[in-house]
Amino acid sequence: MKGEPINYILIDCEEIALTINDAIAPMKPEQRIDAMARAISRVFQHEYLHIHRRTSHHDETGVFASALSRRFLVAPDPPAPPSATPTTAVIETVGAL
Ligand SMILES: [Zn+2]
Repeated sequence: MKGEPINYILIDCEEIALTINDAIAPMKPEQRIDAMARAISRVFQHEYLHIHRRTSHHDETGVFASALSRRFLVAPDPPAPPSATPTTAVIETVGAL
């Protein structure tokens, strides 16, 4: 139904690469790989929170904000509000899937 979360996650890695390309271009190759992995992980976290919370609404900031900035995607340790950080129970649920 329109506006309801779906139960699968499709991550467009090419779109992520295009989004962060300018930010990671000056990095060393291994740093670019790490930055891409972080960006993919943060997009996954965002989409998983839609499924876990069963909502299409977003937080004001953090990984569950409506738009993830290029800077947020590649930052080594971006600030995240506690509500956006998956709990141990959530991680265990993912591991059980
Ligand atoms: Zn979203």
